[in-house]
Amino acid sequence: MPTQKDVLNKKIEKGEHWFWKGEVDKRKNPIFNQMGDRLQARRVVWVQQGNTLEHEEILFNKCGEKSCVLPAHQKVTLRTGQRHDTCSKGHSLLDSGNVYVAPDGRVRCQKCKRERTYESQARTIQQKNWIIKQLTEELEQLKNR
Ligand SMILES: [Zn+2]
Ligand SMILES: [Zn+2]
Repeated sequence: MPTQKDVLNKKIEKGEHWFWKGEVDKRKNPIFNQMGDRLQARRVVWVQQGNTLEHEEILFNKCGEKSCVLPAHQKVTLRTGQRHDTCSKGHSLLDSGNVYVAPDGRVRCQKCKRERTYESQARTIQQKNWIIKQLTEELEQLKNR
């Protein structure tokens, strides 16, 4: 019977990065399906390679290749608490005026939230304009009939 290690190795293309050839989740994170249990493949490989990981610790992929499971390309961070000084767009998270606590308990960026709101409002306006344009054209066609 193949061991967990054999099964894992079959799903990894080893090179400069260790590309995961198995299942991925919606966010493209490698998933190791162990008899119905969907485990984070990066964690499984990490432990398989002799590293330890506490429950409250998560692995953060630092090489930028989402499907890479190479332990040397992962960074251990804490699951809870503030992990970064800035958000992914570089806004400060140390500025208490710019942060809010999301329902999931994480500290989030206010500026990004505002930008997202503006974007969705802009999209709605664009859609409305498009509909008005269509209706105007239809009206013109009716008039010219
Ligand atoms: Zn990598
Ligand atoms: Zn931000």
